[in-house]
Amino acid sequence: MAHKKYPRVVIIGAGFAGINAAKALAKKPVDVIIIDRTNHHLFQPLLYQVASAALSPGDIASPIRTIFRGKPNIYVEMDEVTAIDTKNQVVKLSEQDDIAFDYLIVAPGSRHSYFANPEWEQFAPGLKSLDDALKIREKVLLSFEQAEHLVGTDEATKYLTFVIVGGGPTGVEIAPMLFGEQEMPLPQS
Ligand SMILES: Cc1cc2nc3c(=O)[nH]c(=O)nc-3n(C[C@H](O)[C@H](O)[C@H](O)COP(=O)(O)OP(=O)(O)OC[C@H]3O[C@@H](n4cnc5c(N)ncnc54)[C@H](O)[C@@H]3O)c2cc1C
Repeated sequence: MAHKKYPRVVIIGAGFAGINAAKALAKKPVDVIIIDRTNHHLFQPLLYQVASAALSPGDIASPIRTIFRGKPNIYVEMDEVTAIDTKNQVVKLSEQDDIAFDYLIVAPGSRHSYFANPEWEQFAPGLKSLDDALKIREKVLLSFEQAEHLVGTDEATKYLTFVIVGGGPTGVEIAPMLFGEQEMPLPQS
């Protein structure tokens, strides 16, 4: 941004929180800079469909710049925020110069937790990003390929057995996708 006419609001994170904060500030007398480590907003609730190959990554990721097209007071920066210096009112970035702010909105989301069992992560990646979804998808599809080579043998079962730890919404949604249901079956009364 070349000049500074209005107070500057910096938003860290272009998830649901950051995007909605920026939308609320569009066309208001403030300059908004929204910073995200990726250039897209991700619709996380459908990550399980990318993980199970029902959708492609592009179906659930929208470029942040496209979302704010026609909103001249919203600027988008792709970078990783590494620190916040509240005394000097700047955010520090991994690739670019510090960005000063008058107001700061911190909306970087959360990370998955293995509840003090970090060793589980290598076998069971979390499901928070497109990268995670694509890792799971690759593992699942390669297992099906292995099973295909072993049809009729006991060993095939090994490649067709998936364990989902966690019966919350994500676990319950992904389970039917693994055996070919395109939608979660409704409970039978
Ligand atoms: C698999 C899954 C299914 C879900 N299903 C549902 C559902 O059905 N219904 C529902 O209501 N909710 C659902 N949720 C939860 C919902 O997606 C989250 O509550 C919501 O995404 C949180 O929004 P947020 O803006 O706080 O964070 P996020 O959406 O996580 O966004 C944070 C953003 O900050 C960026 N960021 C983080 N750190 C930095 C940094 N240091 N520098 C730069 N950028 C950074 C990230 O790249 C990201 O874009 C689901 C979540 C998951 C993972």
